[in-house]
Amino acid sequence: MAVKEMYAIAPQWKQPAPKEDLEPTEIEFRQVGKCFPAKGKSEAPFAIRNVNFKIRRGEVVSIIGPSGCGKSTILNMGSGLYRPSEGEVFVGGEAVTGPVRKVAFMLQKDLLMPWRSIRRNVELGLEIQGMAKEQRKVIAEDLLNRCHLQGFADHYPFQLSGGMRQRAALARTLAIDPQVLFLDEPFSALDAQTKMILQQDLAQMLYQEKKTALFITHDLVEAIAMSDRLLVMSARPGTIVEEIVVDLPFRENPLERRKLPEIGPLAGRLMELLKVGEDTELH
Ligand code: ADP
Ligand code: MG
Repeated sequence: MAVKEMYAIAPQWKQPAPKEDLEPTEIEFRQVGKCFPAKGKSEAPFAIRNVNFKIRRGEVVSIIGPSGCGKSTILNMGSGLYRPSEGEVFVGGEAVTGPVRKVAFMLQKDLLMPWRSIRRNVELGLEIQGMAKEQRKVIAEDLLNRCHLQGFADHYPFQLSGGMRQRAALARTLAIDPQVLFLDEPFSALDAQTKMILQQDLAQMLYQEKKTALFITHDLVEAIAMSDRLLVMSARPGTIVEEIVVDLPFRENPLERRKLPEIGPLAGRLMELLKVGEDTELH
């Protein structure tokens, strides 16, 4: 049976009514486009175009879309590393024109400094801010505990597993107490179980501290398990083709949310939008 026919008999996902806007807008992209110069072409083609969305304070929103559609480019513009070629980006109500202080970025690569202990890696952002040594130490210890790395503060990155290094990177990201987190496939290099445990820790911290997060992942169930809303992008020039409200309980507890029966139909809807397996015969 073709995958497309299977969608026809699978339970369908129904889009819930949008929730009322209670919180102020924290991140906004208004008609944003970005082009990069291409070799041998006089005109720079658009990597993304007509990107519009708003994210409210405390929301976790995931972007999913094919490789190369411009997901990382969106995060780079949100954090002020790239300037848009057209349109405007706002964080906390202010136009982004350079690096934004209240924003933290976390990537797939942990980018820990190998010559610094785990504690000193976590303290890095605070050190740059000029915080006193004792105060930095207290914050780093607290975060290392919350990220389940107690006892590893004096270890060096090479002494930790991939999952633990990513935990340390999460602690470092949270140390500066950012209002907004941009997370670019932070768990994609981890094995399935380590990934679920880290998702759980991250989800709880985001929920308890009411952080706003824009999350990129290739893992559709991860996106559903972690998010209030999903933005689905098309291939280049990337743009948002669908916005889906994940009206499910347990945003603070993705391990529980993963067990809900609605997950399957919603993942099926995403596969349909992303054309996963279309025209593929199963044998
Ligand atoms: P994604 O994260 O969705 O895989 P990216 O945002 O990394 O996609 O890239 C989108 C497109 O923009 C790609 O075609 C990529 O080659 C191009 N691109 C991204 N950053 C740069 C850059 N700094 N210079 C040139 N092209 C870039
Ligand atoms: Mg990317």
